[in-house]
This record gives sequence, C-alpha cells and structure tokens, in this order.
Amino acid sequence: MRTFQLDRPGDLAEAVRILAEDEGARVIAGGTDLVTLMRDGIQQPSRVLDLRDLGLTEIEWQPDGGVRIGALCPNAVDDRRLAAEYPLVVAALRAGASPQIRNMATFGGNILQQTRCAYYRLPEFACNRRDPGTGCAALRGDSAKQAIFGVSDTCNAVHPSDLAVALSALEAEVLVHGPAGARRIPIREFHPLPGDTPHRVSALRDGELVTGIELPAAGRGRVSNYVKFRDRASFAFALASAAVVIERAGTVVLGARIALGGVAPKPWRAEHAERALVGNRLDEDSIAAASAAAVRGATPRKDNEYKVELVRRVVRRALSELE
Ligand SMILES: Cc1cc2nc3c(=O)[nH]c(=O)nc-3n(C[C@H](O)[C@H](O)[C@H](O)COP(=O)(O)OP(=O)(O)OC[C@H]3O[C@@H](n4cnc5c(N)ncnc54)[C@H](O)[C@@H]3O)c2cc1C
Repeated sequence: MRTFQLDRPGDLAEAVRILAEDEGARVIAGGTDLVTLMRDGIQQPSRVLDLRDLGLTEIEWQPDGGVRIGALCPNAVDDRRLAAEYPLVVAALRAGASPQIRNMATFGGNILQQTRCAYYRLPEFACNRRDPGTGCAALRGDSAKQAIFGVSDTCNAVHPSDLAVALSALEAEVLVHGPAGARRIPIREFHPLPGDTPHRVSALRDGELVTGIELPAAGRGRVSNYVKFRDRASFAFALASAAVVIERAGTVVLGARIALGGVAPKPWRAEHAERALVGNRLDEDSIAAASAAAVRGATPRKDNEYKVELVRRVVRRALSELE
C-alpha cells in the first residue's frame, strides 16, 4: 500500500479546501470499500480525509414531510419513522453486505462505492475505469456479470449499490458541498453512463463531497418493494434487482417508478415498464406488460443473455408482491 497522509478536517470548509487543492485526496467514510481498493493498489490516494468530525450522521425530517439523511449515517440505520415511511430504503440496505459491514458503511460511501467488475479489481487486466485509456478487458472477456443496459465500447461494468437503486425509484437528491458552496444533484444525474469517460463515477465536481441524501415526501397511496436476485441468499451483489414505487388512487396506478440494479453502469430506470403501468389497474396483464417492457433496449452478450429473463422476472416479482 502506498504511503498517504491522513487528515481529520474539523469542518466542511477545511475538507473542501483540502479536496480542492490536492487532486490525489480521497474521502474516507466507513472505509469498507476504499480500504480494500487501497490495499490492492487499485486506488492510491496521496491524502485520505476522515470525515468523522463533521457530524453528518443525522436524520432530519423536513417540514414538507421529506427527510434528509446525513452522508455519514450508517447503513445499519435503525430509525422507526424511516422504516415506516421509506421501507424501500431499509429493504435495499438490508439486502446488501452483512450486518458488520452495514454497521461501518455509510449512505454517502454506499452510493459512491466502486464497481465490483472483476477486471477493475484486478490490476493485471486493462481497465479504462481504473486506468483511463488502457482498454477494457471485460469487453473481450467473461461478461456473465456485466451490464446489459447503458454499455459503451469503453466499459460494461455494473453499478453495485442496492441503496442507489432504491433512491433512484424514490427520486432522491444527493446533497453536495464544494468550493462553490452547496448544491443538490438528482440521483438520476448522479451516476453518469461510462461513455468515453468511464473513470468518472459520479457527477461530483473537483473538491465536492456528499453531505447527505434527501428523499421527497411519500405520496398518498404509495406502495413499494425491493427484490434482489443473486448467486446466494446473502452476502452477494445483485445479478438483477428491482425497486418499484407505485402510487395508486383506488385501483388505478397514478405513478410508477421502477429502477433496476445489477444490469447497468448506474441504477437503471425502466421507463418503458413504468409507462406500461400508469393509467391501468395493477393486475396480471399490466404486470406482464411491464415486465416485458422492462427489457426493451437491452444489449446482452453471449454470457449475460440470462440477465434479460432475470430482469423480466425480478420486475414481475417486485410488482406481484405489492399489497
Ligand atoms: C463483502 C462485501 C459485500 C458487499 N455486498 C454489498 C451488497 O450486496 N450491496 C451493496 O449495495 N453493497 C455491498 N457492499 C458494499 C458496501 O455497501 C460498501 O462498501 C459501503 O456501502 C461503502 O460505504 P463506506 O462508508 O464504507 O465507503 P468508503 O469505503 O469509505 O468509501 C467508498 C467511496 O466513496 C467515497 N466517499 C465516501 N463518503 C463520501 C462522501 N461523503 N463524499 C464524497 N465521497 C465519499 C470514498 O472516497 C470512496 O471512493 C459489500 C461490501 C463488502 C466488503
């Protein structure tokens, strides 16, 4: 592991100043991803900023009924009101990692965790995400775990976070702070597609860090569900997952948001599937139409064609289980 300087900034301004003046500086929160990457030589920051003195652990209810969750709030969050009003968030968190890791891991770190693409995590393979311009061994290699949506000819890695998939279906905003002050980024824009710049894993600008996540107030008649398919029952990343949020008036669907995990370089909104539901009753026919529409635009390869059927099934299951 390369030698680095450890800083513990006392306030946000100091953290932002260090991040802005040293492009080799990285924030550490729970460290459950960053430390592994540093140990394996995948990331070699010159400076590491431990944020623990900044607070940022609170859950603050907003006057409009929404909620703001601090970036350093642990993934093992135990908050009755959050569980009651945003069960999707808690379900997605519980579907990930292990209790020990969730105790350490944070909301900010979770949505900024790096891909689990094996080619990214093994320095002997070419990876445009890790070392820009070196090529992508995954595009020629085993694509069984790779993306079927949003792929570019520079990268086909999958975004690993379960939480981010739930946040996408809830249309959360990421609160950030940087040299130009505070701003908020819709979760939809927070994770860019790889395009020609797969090393850019978030919309954060130089010197910016995440201070929290804000969830809009839960609408009336809202129901939600998170379903995750994986290699084994726990401690495994998603092969395909679906977060669904449905708003109904009586039996008619007024609003539908469906986000997919494990199948794209970012949480993937299945908009065709959403449109198949809106204005209809949530019944066998509309669920079948939505699950078929969810795979429109997929570009699987030989090894990951199975993910197309997995997406159909995970969407069908997530919708069918709704009360
Ligand atoms: C064995 C194992 C199994 C796992 N299984 C799952 C799973 O099934 N599903 C799942 O979703 N996750 C899973 N994870 C990943 C785990 O959820 C993440 O490692 C964790 O959420 C990262 O949070 P952290 O606070 O530890 O982040 P860190 O490791 O501290 O940081 C991660 C990244 O985020 C950056 N960062 C952190 N906080 C901020 C901030 N406030 N502002 C700007 N940048 C920041 C860091 O610089 C770093 O690049 C697993 C991890 C392990 C080790």
